[in-house]
Amino acid sequence: MATSVSSLTRVGASASKRLNRLGIKTAEDLLFWFPFRYEDYSRIVPIKDLHDGEAVTIRAKLELIASKRSFRKRVNITEALFSDESGSVRATWFNQPFIAKVLQPGDVVFLSGKVKADMLGPQFSSPTYEKETTRATAHTARLVPIYPLTEGLTQKQIRFLIQQVIPLADKIDEWLPENILDDYDLATLSDAIRGIHFPNDVNELRISTERLKFDELFLVQLKAELSRRVRLDSNSTEIIFHEKEVKEFVSGLPFKLTPSQKMSAWEILRDTQKSAPMNRLLSGDVGSGKTIVAAIVAYNTALAGKQTVIMAPTEILAAQHYATINKFLGDKLTMALLTRSQYSLSLAEKLTPSDRDFAPPEGGSSMAVRSKFLPLATTKKRVIEAIKNDEVKIIIGTHALLGEKIEFNDVGLIVVDEQHRFGVAQRKAIKDKTEKIDAHYLSMTATPIPRSLALALFGDLDVSRLTEMPNDRKPIMTRFVEPKNRDKAYDFIRAQVKQGRQVFVVCPLIEEQEKKKKSSDEIEIINYPLGNVSVNDERKSVLSEYKKLSEKVFPDLKVEFLHGKMKPAEKEAVMNRFQNKQTDILVSTSVIEVGIDIPNATVMMIEGADRFGLAQLHQFRGRVGRSMHQSYCFVFTDSPTEKVKERLEFFEKHLDGFKLAERDLETRGPGEVFGAAQSGMMRFRLAKLTDGEIIKKSRDAAVAIAPNIKMYPSLLAKLTNWEDVAHLE
Ligand code: ADP
Ligand code: MG
Repeated sequence: MATSVSSLTRVGASASKRLNRLGIKTAEDLLFWFPFRYEDYSRIVPIKDLHDGEAVTIRAKLELIASKRSFRKRVNITEALFSDESGSVRATWFNQPFIAKVLQPGDVVFLSGKVKADMLGPQFSSPTYEKETTRATAHTARLVPIYPLTEGLTQKQIRFLIQQVIPLADKIDEWLPENILDDYDLATLSDAIRGIHFPNDVNELRISTERLKFDELFLVQLKAELSRRVRLDSNSTEIIFHEKEVKEFVSGLPFKLTPSQKMSAWEILRDTQKSAPMNRLLSGDVGSGKTIVAAIVAYNTALAGKQTVIMAPTEILAAQHYATINKFLGDKLTMALLTRSQYSLSLAEKLTPSDRDFAPPEGGSSMAVRSKFLPLATTKKRVIEAIKNDEVKIIIGTHALLGEKIEFNDVGLIVVDEQHRFGVAQRKAIKDKTEKIDAHYLSMTATPIPRSLALALFGDLDVSRLTEMPNDRKPIMTRFVEPKNRDKAYDFIRAQVKQGRQVFVVCPLIEEQEKKKKSSDEIEIINYPLGNVSVNDERKSVLSEYKKLSEKVFPDLKVEFLHGKMKPAEKEAVMNRFQNKQTDILVSTSVIEVGIDIPNATVMMIEGADRFGLAQLHQFRGRVGRSMHQSYCFVFTDSPTEKVKERLEFFEKHLDGFKLAERDLETRGPGEVFGAAQSGMMRFRLAKLTDGEIIKKSRDAAVAIAPNIKMYPSLLAKLTNWEDVAHLE
């Protein structure tokens, strides 16, 4: 198993380098390099029954073969004639003169490929060929595995290598306990490995795949279940529910909570009263009002004398949360803002009642409100000290809060907004701090989490959902704009601005990897979604769009831009001008994807919409429609292929984030729903989030075995090993 691939037959230095690039170093790695699809060449057809366009296999005798140079094009053509009892057929290959040496007249050969019929009858163009031997075929006359490859490797090569190592499948240790294999009717690992590479039929493939998917999901579930057990066993602060004060606070709000806001707040408050630390996700569409729910719970936590830490993914969002929560609670509590470049302490006692601003959201900008809360002339050091001395009860910031210098006093609750924006490493750091202080943990996300996903990935997570919008909202009208109607859309936008509204324009990232295209049919380049985004290119697309809009399309309007490479102070200045209505149109990257709350903006224009997942488009759309004004979302694309059109029309019709996320999951995978940052934890090779039945099985198995896990050392070893690998990723 540990044999290096370089010592296998026909692996030279360059092939072994290419294999290494895929992470394949040993025979074992090869066994676990799974096909991502299969060509069904299992049907062997008599030559007389060949029909145009069918993908089939024939078993035939080679009659003639010759290789020659065509004189017009400088290519080499190999032509051959094959026959069986029923008839004969031609085959051609290009630039593979060696075939005329490998195959000799008289050989019995399997040919697999697509049939083309013309005036001269049926023929094969560049079919896969394989001489009949006593050994089972690998490339033809069967379900042929197609592997993910890298440049310079061919399917034939990798199949040949896997064929060499496949006998080792017998030596693979079974790590699943026998009772699980029995109870859940699973194939052994050895059988599954053989079956996934070279299945004899569709049924064997199904059974093998199911076992291997089970493995991936079971480990996730087992880990979740074990950590749930640890969590339920550990001690946290019981935060008493100050019912009277909380009710007073809620009834003093400028709006009525929606039923699901009430329900979620209640679920969270109930959890935090327990002695086991809460681990809950608050999931609600953009604009559904998660912040106020967090504020209610933070308030109750403060009443119990504990601190709340609220973390946002960007400085802009942290500042906005600070402003919003100040608006709600500024007269009751002192709070701190701390990010890399910003810090502030609010001082409740300095405020007079007339400074309190409880205007409804459409009444103005929350950024402007912030200036009313005279920040104490302060230093970063002072803020850090105040946090440490328990002078502040609500601490809002970015991951700067995870810095070593920051010490909290007595944290009862941690709230993490848009958790998926945090990398795996930061998440762990938060958790470490949590463990130290045993706080309750609430994460919030606007990414709609379908049930299957929640179950598959967050077995250790309770979920609260905001299922309705505050009822003063009008549904956002969405239009997919064909290129020819672009000017009409611009006219419409101008009219909105004339009415005093504001406009967002979002530009796509340009992925570096897109430049690489498949170089031939046989080579599939592995291309992880959203990998290697280049920030420079991102800036470029924003700047050129800005130039176009400000100089050509809307020279009479005030246009500004925002992108990730700008300094925090610049970004904040741009945001402030937009918030204060000094700017009409803001051109930006996906920086504005999450959280930003600007009720006066009513148009969201998305360029290059084909490059975004549906869930992400939905996030953008949620930036508008936050007031009583009718809002609009326009999506544009430069490549309106049928598939793209279909997706964007789906987006046009559906306002339900859960529906959109489900469709993303089915067609594009979880990386699309969650972004690249956290796809590491979800890099299942086989399992899909739509594998509901296997997910359920794996969950049941994990729950059943977790209490007795100590009796299964091989399982524990596997789990540790898997965690190490997952962590490195
Ligand atoms: P998100 O869930 O996207 O984080 P926010 O918490 O930013 O949404 O809320 C969006 C806006 O809706 C804010 O201006 C907030 O004050 C307002 N809001 C929240 N709940 C209600 C409600 N029940 N009725 C009316 N407006 C609300
Ligand atoms: Mg939010």
